[in-house]
Amino acid sequence: MRIAVIDSRAKIVRGDEVFDIAGASAGLFGPDAQDVYDQWKGFLSWADSADLGPGAAFAPEECDSPVPRPRQIFGIGLNYHAHQIESGLPAPATPLVFAKFVTSVAPAIGELVLFTDQVDWEVEAAIVIGTEARHVDKANAWAHVAGVTAAQDYSARDVQMRPVGTPQFSLGKSFPGYTPLGPVLVSPDEFENPDDIQLSCAINGRTVQSSSTADMIFSVGELIAYLSAILPLLPGDVILTGTPSGVALGMNPPEYLRAGDQITSVVGDQTQRHVAIAQS
Ligand code: ZN
Repeated sequence: MRIAVIDSRAKIVRGDEVFDIAGASAGLFGPDAQDVYDQWKGFLSWADSADLGPGAAFAPEECDSPVPRPRQIFGIGLNYHAHQIESGLPAPATPLVFAKFVTSVAPAIGELVLFTDQVDWEVEAAIVIGTEARHVDKANAWAHVAGVTAAQDYSARDVQMRPVGTPQFSLGKSFPGYTPLGPVLVSPDEFENPDDIQLSCAINGRTVQSSSTADMIFSVGELIAYLSAILPLLPGDVILTGTPSGVALGMNPPEYLRAGDQITSVVGDQTQRHVAIAQS
């Protein structure tokens, strides 16, 4: 199953075509994508045998985030072995969790405003919750996941790291546009192994990050088990599962994004493209 949001309406993506969910279901599901996630199991069983009617041509650049307004967005810090080493920080004993605020959600393709002169890239696999997860065992965690999509956890390092002693991860990573998601949500069954998804990031065509989610310190199952023991994970909630090595912060000296830079981020078969622009 593949879900996109185009013109504020949830769509099923099949091949090169998109099908309007509210239209095909005569209003049973959608048009708001959140309504589809809120009824995820029922939606899947309907979609299994539904006649979707005529499709329209799929264009990734028309997609908004496949989850336009998640109620909760979690970020995970230092969750790849090589990135933990480049950061110079000790390996975490439990997941390092921060929040990203919903006004930072943006489309997968578009412009990235450089609100400070220390904006960095972090390609990440994003997990979207399908059915509410509370006290979920890691072995059952994937059953609560609607799908995986590409994400960037764009980070203004100067804001993130100040003041010393009480870093502000949630603010430094929540400028408008700093959580692009999509273009398309891909359900876990479409991956040969959803715990081994390739991801990469290139700046102006030069690959700077390249890894697999298999290198994560805490797996998707462990993250969902950890978070759901503390609070309920709700349909449509998003977990950014951490970034592999190769961010600007790990360079000496760091080469942060400059106006005109082109950022290409790939997770599985989903590709994001952003062009960095100066703040007007
Ligand atoms: Zn991150």
